[in-house]
Amino acid sequence: MTTHAGTTVSTAHDQPLLDLTQHEIQALRTEFNLADAHTHQRQSAAQHEIVGRLPELWYEAEEGLQATYEQRFTEAFFRLHRQPTALARNKTLLSYAASISTMVVAMYLKQRRAAVTLVEPCFDNLHDVLSNMGVPLYPVEESALHDPDRIYTELKRRVRTDALFLVDPNNPTGFTLMRHGRKGLEEVVRFCKDHHKLLVIDFCFASFTLYDPELARFDVYELLEESGVSYLAIEDTGKTWPVQDAKAAMLTASEDIKEDIYNLHTSVLLNVSPFVLNMLTQYVENSRKDGLASVRDVLDTNRAAVREALRGTILDYQEPVAKTSVAWARITHPELTATELQRELRAEGVYVLPGRYFYWSQPGRGEPYVRMALAREPEMFAGAMQRLRKVLDRYGR
Ligand SMILES: *Cc1c(COP(=O)(O)O)cnc(C)c1O
Repeated sequence: MTTHAGTTVSTAHDQPLLDLTQHEIQALRTEFNLADAHTHQRQSAAQHEIVGRLPELWYEAEEGLQATYEQRFTEAFFRLHRQPTALARNKTLLSYAASISTMVVAMYLKQRRAAVTLVEPCFDNLHDVLSNMGVPLYPVEESALHDPDRIYTELKRRVRTDALFLVDPNNPTGFTLMRHGRKGLEEVVRFCKDHHKLLVIDFCFASFTLYDPELARFDVYELLEESGVSYLAIEDTGKTWPVQDAKAAMLTASEDIKEDIYNLHTSVLLNVSPFVLNMLTQYVENSRKDGLASVRDVLDTNRAAVREALRGTILDYQEPVAKTSVAWARITHPELTATELQRELRAEGVYVLPGRYFYWSQPGRGEPYVRMALAREPEMFAGAMQRLRKVLDRYGR
């Protein structure tokens, strides 16, 4: 989990950190924190107005029915995401954080004694939640999904478990199955349906693809529902809007398993704060009006800054398919590892994440990579890029 008070982890510099979240907690004490992918930028003008109305939203939420705020939020969210089928089916379960939805997924897998094949690389929190809940995990390389014409055969060859867990767009690489329209996801669904696999998809980064003309997001839930595949889909708000982690996540299940999921979900929580839902609805509606401009502009500015800062250095910016809120870069220096570079940058006040944690089954494969978070105030980010460049210049080109 990335929401953490930070009290249990030693601050000693030589303490080996067990996961990315422990890195992120250290980064919260660092001058230039580019570690966690949470939203640390300031409010846009329109968002600032929402903050000005918080007392009003608070009292409104006190008066109304919980169901009203749940309905309004879910409708606003799926309308922004252009998911009419999810909206019409009206069976999405809300929780406080994507990790809670993932825990419910893990509880279900555990209950069914199902093992899961999880994409690699990916954000280590997913692996850790599943593994700590006792679910056996096997990796499938993201590259197995890159060519839609080969997805079916690649998955058939590689997936031996009852469930397949994908992240789309992927964190950290930004790869998405939507690159070639419907075909990528269609092929994944066809494989899962033919071979009776439960398909789990984490869509926490999906908002970043909504207004990308190259990645027109279609009605994903229509495809899932009409195929008859068993599926679980996780959606999130936490990485999109700058709301100080007052977030909500969503879990939607196919008809065949919806009852079981509901029963697990109610063992974990009753409801998300109606105030938080009421507030988030304003952010979502605002993004529908401005085409997510306030979210994208900050990321575009910082993405341009990171590209510029890395130009001609030993760090190679990896052009993503989907422009998410993180940048992934490859070290081209033959002797330098990400672990070393991360240490060196940290000593200069810039905290990036070393790639090895994203390669949860083979950490060594992540050693050429670092991840940098882009959801930051551009002024601070520009300072971080200057400092980063200074360190990279020690290595020449
Ligand atoms: C951050 C993240 C999560 C977890 O979200 P929390 O709000 O920390 O629970 C899950 N999936 C992806 C892809 C993420 O980036």
